[in-house]
Amino acid sequence: MSRPKLGEYIRENELFAKKSLGQHFLLDINLTSKIAGLLQIDDDDVIFEIGPGPGGLTQALLNTKAKKIIAIEKDERFVEHLKTYFSDDLGRLEVISGDALKIFPAQYLRDNGIECKSAKIIANLPYNVGTQLFLNWVTGEEKDWEMALMFQMEVAKRICAQTGDNHYGRLAILTQAVCHAHVGMHVPRLAFSPPPKVESAVAVITPKKKNRYDDLETLGKVTQAAFSQRRKMLRSSLAPLGDAEALCEAAGVKPTLRPEQLSPEGFYALCEAVKKN
Ligand code: SAM
Repeated sequence: MSRPKLGEYIRENELFAKKSLGQHFLLDINLTSKIAGLLQIDDDDVIFEIGPGPGGLTQALLNTKAKKIIAIEKDERFVEHLKTYFSDDLGRLEVISGDALKIFPAQYLRDNGIECKSAKIIANLPYNVGTQLFLNWVTGEEKDWEMALMFQMEVAKRICAQTGDNHYGRLAILTQAVCHAHVGMHVPRLAFSPPPKVESAVAVITPKKKNRYDDLETLGKVTQAAFSQRRKMLRSSLAPLGDAEALCEAAGVKPTLRPEQLSPEGFYALCEAVKKN
């Protein structure tokens, strides 16, 4: 079915972007198709899209082989719009009105008896809650799902950073304990309507066959303590977890290191020391 062009449609229907919901839209189907193409999508896959907004990426996802696309949107204006604009696809496209911070994708599949070979998340995330959403998934039941997620460039770099990089920190350590992560695509500001202040990038996350470290709860606590005082040495920043010097010694980690100098393996050893403490 031929649909009116998305850009014209949202202008005519006065669906203007709201800053408070981090709304920056991608309306070019060539670009959204490239984002959808960052993951291999099979016909038994279910794709979650968080924050579909006007539906530029939704359209690209509908053009893939996925058996179902579940789109969660907080802005009621767009929920109504998506149901109208994609009325012919409802069934394969499910539009949920709600806050993605409160709807957990794996649990949603279970509660609704939706079965699939694999589930994936592909989204141009709202920047104000993007990091929190990603942390929920990567430390939650979705940690073995593939994801292609648009973040502001800074956040994408923090997810994909290696030890010693400027952006290395809690997000990279938690992510890379269970997933591979790389920047799949840079997206310039002017590709969005309205353009955000900063450049963006899509981080591609794929689960590791075998986790490097399983206890993400302890890893979360240790990295929180270490990086909340980034400029301090471990011997002082780890104090909230116990005798910091003793923890470093038990882990075989130099207490004079700053957190960005410690490898993920060093952090895993610190976690083990904290648990025995
Ligand atoms: N995917 C669309 C695109 O690429 O044009 C819109 C992306 S825009 C950056 C982020 C979208 O997330 C907006 O539609 C916004 O209303 C929605 N959003 C913001 N916070 C949300 C939340 N907590 N739960 C669900 N959707 C949210």
